[in-house]
Amino acid sequence: MRNQNILISGAGVAGPALAYWLARYGFRPTVVERAPALRPGGQAVDFRGAPQLDVLDRMGMLPTVRAAATGMGDIVIVNAAGRRLSSLPAEVFGGEVEILRGDLSRILYEASLPGTEYIFGDSITTLTETGDGVHVTFERSPTRTFDLVVGADGVRSKVRELAFPPVEPVHLGLYGAIFTVPDELGTGSQGRMYSVPGRCATIQGTRASLDFASPPLDYDHRDPAAQRALISRAFDGLGWRVPELLAAMDEAVDFYFAPACQLVLDRYAAGRVVLVGDAGYAPGPGGMGTGLGVIGAYVLAGELTSARGDHRAAFSAYETLMRPYIATCQSQAKGADKYLVPQKRSQIWTRNQMMRLLPYMPGKNMIKRMTERAASAITLKNYNDSSNLHITTPAAAHRGVPAAAHVSAHTDVHTRARTDVHARANADRRLTSTPHADSATATATANASASASATATPPRVALSGH
Ligand SMILES: Cc1cc2nc3c(=O)[nH]c(=O)nc-3n(C[C@H](O)[C@H](O)[C@H](O)COP(=O)(O)OP(=O)(O)OC[C@H]3O[C@@H](n4cnc5c(N)ncnc54)[C@H](O)[C@@H]3O)c2cc1C
Repeated sequence: MRNQNILISGAGVAGPALAYWLARYGFRPTVVERAPALRPGGQAVDFRGAPQLDVLDRMGMLPTVRAAATGMGDIVIVNAAGRRLSSLPAEVFGGEVEILRGDLSRILYEASLPGTEYIFGDSITTLTETGDGVHVTFERSPTRTFDLVVGADGVRSKVRELAFPPVEPVHLGLYGAIFTVPDELGTGSQGRMYSVPGRCATIQGTRASLDFASPPLDYDHRDPAAQRALISRAFDGLGWRVPELLAAMDEAVDFYFAPACQLVLDRYAAGRVVLVGDAGYAPGPGGMGTGLGVIGAYVLAGELTSARGDHRAAFSAYETLMRPYIATCQSQAKGADKYLVPQKRSQIWTRNQMMRLLPYMPGKNMIKRMTERAASAITLKNYNDSSNLHITTPAAAHRGVPAAAHVSAHTDVHTRARTDVHARANADRRLTSTPHADSATATATANASASASATATPPRVALSGH
């Protein structure tokens, strides 16, 4: 097998998922993450449609993800006095499995530990491609050479910045912050949402989000204090529990601020460098960025093993398989701002009325079916898993990983041994159960979802990017 030594930038969702598959196929992945430890934040993200669930199943982690599911119910839309106006029914908008993004990232990270080297608190600074590898310099670690480099470092990908022509994310009309709130502000399993024109405050369990409509803003994406100030200004003077939320935001250690944006690139690979997840194709709110990241990781690793490490063949097949699926998912995200942060009182009223009537409308299942159809618009291949059926190596190295992560690394060797049994069982059986769309269906789905997205976009989704 060629090109076994692979550097992945970013330990969010797509990065650890890719590391898992690469290690399982016998590659040697190293993941570098800029944050000093796994980033815990984020609202609930969900998986829907057979392929997304199938990938989790093939990883042997569907039961773990289900066990960590949020179990969140409807989100009740309230007025300033907290009185119920309407609700977003979970049965219509929820995915098949909903999990906090931070929990998912941890599960994927732990599953990827055997066979993966993690470096926390560091970032790539330069990439220099040579005939047979990529020289990489880091902010802290010594220079190293890798066979291939993958950017899984989110919307503001450093890898993309270094190896691809500049591309501006398409702004989708809103910004938002997500953070944990104290228990006394929490809502239990039923969320609460308060809207005024152009702004929306949501509490789901002990996670809150504050979203506001805005044209693109000039701010320092590395300065949380400046981002908190933007949110405070946007929500200044609002009623309901907004003052308490703003106070909680100032204290939150997992504060996360992001624009809603979409990335559309001409290509996902440049020489020995390739992008996966938000770094290459962020879809924006409601575009299933998490499912896309996990599927992208599965396809990229699978194509690399199929091509015996030939990156040109693998990257080309990866792009061919993923591009129509990405387009379908991205079409789902268009119009999310109209639901999350309607700009007029009349639009808020119309949205609330529609949501109030939705459970009684014959079309309610159609909305769910449409998003599931979009999520299912890819046919997963069964990649040859025989190269690595005997992975038992514990994590190679964990430089910079905090003590708690070391503990979980060691514990996880046993967990992994168990999941490998499951994974092998999966690999052995014929995995053809997915009711896949063929490419014609995928196109049709894309078209249908584009026109339906205005009604199908779940307003409960939080932001994508960073
Ligand atoms: C803290 C956080 C909270 C989020 N919350 C939500 C949410 O509530 N709802 C939602 O739909 N989506 C959320 N997202 C985005 C969501 O995770 C992604 O859309 C999706 O899961 C695809 O994941 P990804 O791995 O491609 O990107 P991400 O999950 O964004 O992960 C990218 C990772 O790369 C790291 N990184 C960035 N720059 C560098 C660098 N220079 N070097 C090394 N590492 C780098 C980041 O720290 C991050 O860990 C959140 C992302 C983050 C980082």
